[in-house]
Amino acid sequence: EAAPYVPALVVGTGYGAAVTALRLGAAGIKTTMIEMGQLWNTAGKDGKVFCSTLNPDRRSMWFHRRTEAPLDTFLWLDVVNRDLGRPYAGVLDRIDFPNMGVYVGRGVGGGSLVNGGMAPTPDRAYFEKVLPQVDADAMYRRYFPLARRMLGVNTIDPRYLEQTPVYKYARVSRRHAHRAGFRTSVVPNVYDFNYLRREEKKQAPRSALAGEVIYGNNHGKLSLDKTYLADALGTGNVTIRTLTRVTTIRQHGKGYLVGLEQIDAWGKVIRRSELACRHLFLGAGSVGTTELLLRARETGTLPDLPAAIGRGWGTNGNVMTARANHLWDPTGTLQSTIPTLAIDNWRHPKHPAFAEIAPLPVGLETWASLYLAITVNPERGHFTYNHHTDRADLHWSAGQSTPSIRSAQFLFDKINKAIGTTYRRDLFTGNRPFAADFCYHPLGGALLGKATDNYGRVRNHPNLYITDSALIPGTLGVNPFVTITALAERNITHILAKDLNRR
Ligand code: FAD
Repeated sequence: EAAPYVPALVVGTGYGAAVTALRLGAAGIKTTMIEMGQLWNTAGKDGKVFCSTLNPDRRSMWFHRRTEAPLDTFLWLDVVNRDLGRPYAGVLDRIDFPNMGVYVGRGVGGGSLVNGGMAPTPDRAYFEKVLPQVDADAMYRRYFPLARRMLGVNTIDPRYLEQTPVYKYARVSRRHAHRAGFRTSVVPNVYDFNYLRREEKKQAPRSALAGEVIYGNNHGKLSLDKTYLADALGTGNVTIRTLTRVTTIRQHGKGYLVGLEQIDAWGKVIRRSELACRHLFLGAGSVGTTELLLRARETGTLPDLPAAIGRGWGTNGNVMTARANHLWDPTGTLQSTIPTLAIDNWRHPKHPAFAEIAPLPVGLETWASLYLAITVNPERGHFTYNHHTDRADLHWSAGQSTPSIRSAQFLFDKINKAIGTTYRRDLFTGNRPFAADFCYHPLGGALLGKATDNYGRVRNHPNLYITDSALIPGTLGVNPFVTITALAERNITHILAKDLNRR
């Protein structure tokens, strides 16, 4: 019996996938999106779709028995993480490899459901260094502005930033950075800052002020289901299948045949099937897309996939750290989960760092300043296919995180010296002041210009495309989703015109 056929199939519903599906649908091409996570639109017993970081339940994590928040402890106490009971198709996944835990979103909208919404555009000179083959003029004139507009990026009103108690933590860190001679900058976001003002005044239900972020925001954030994906469905040509994972890819005439596994929210497989397509677009994220291609190459369903697949993976130099403030420098008991300021030491010749000032929204005064720094880390990991587990294994040694830590330490040692403060050692197990054994910004695995041509076409495989963060070579210098979106816009514009004759 022949498998059902769709003209275009898009794997995943994150940034790369959502852009691609909208543009295909708008060009009149019938498109099916396959997403392994849930559609997050139904309220639980508490009346909310998502749970908060302070009171996580089964909705928090993707088939984990316990939450795995980036902070392990608080005052060395095991109070941060919670047992969850029966594993469930929650919204945040942490894929644990030796020496590296990779956080990703699961559900319609991918990472946009769980991320902090920070929407900076990279420094142009650095972008040109990282992706020299991409026409930077086109990106900075056309595709970055388009991405920001489509994503609904906005910037906090400076007067509000200066007076609101919910960003006291950001102002304290900013003052300390300035005192040490560093610059800071305001970071745009897709969280609606007008909504934030209303929730602060209790004129709207609280989300950023209710500890909601990594397990989803119930209000205020323009995640992809409210932007690109809503528009994609609005074309009438795009459909989304949820709780369905693409497992295999094989050649099928001039197109591809994918194997699908559908589960219920408790993980029980309820159906296995196949779907044929002419054009196949991979947007399963850096780890997801790389794994699908590695599996296809190593199990022989697409044996001629390039050797470059699985290579060139990086953490965007992610490293988390915290400082202990003096008692006269409280950071506030009500903190917005949405970061809005960063310490910008990106131009430093030896130790570039862009450190977002993160909240520690635990509802009581902590005297802590928390940071997620993005640094330059030249180390790259690679993936191999594991025949026993049928998964991709990441090869990343603990020492490969050291350059990230060095650059962050250069910055925060200077701040601590200027202010007379120290690091907090109670937050990460082992009394470590820095945690670079996890990342929020996985990048690479199937690089633009190496695994693919300059537009994401997989080499030697007509009609097979990569659309997502797997294309980006391990570093960007800023939070990545605006760039992933803009690059996907650029690539699909070219592919629609050249491969599908649409304009
Ligand atoms: P993703 O958004 O990861 O989407 C991939 C989708 O594919 C997922 O929905 C996944 O479930 C699905 N999928 C995977 N494999 C399969 C399969 N085999 N079959 C079917 N579906 C599959 N970035 C920023 O720019 N700003 C921030 O403030 C920020 N904060 C972050 C905070 C957290 C906690 C995390 C985890 C990330 C954060 N990021 C942030 C990173 C950003 O979210 C990611 O870079 C971005 O989502 C990657 O986009 P993508 O299109 O590559 O894939």
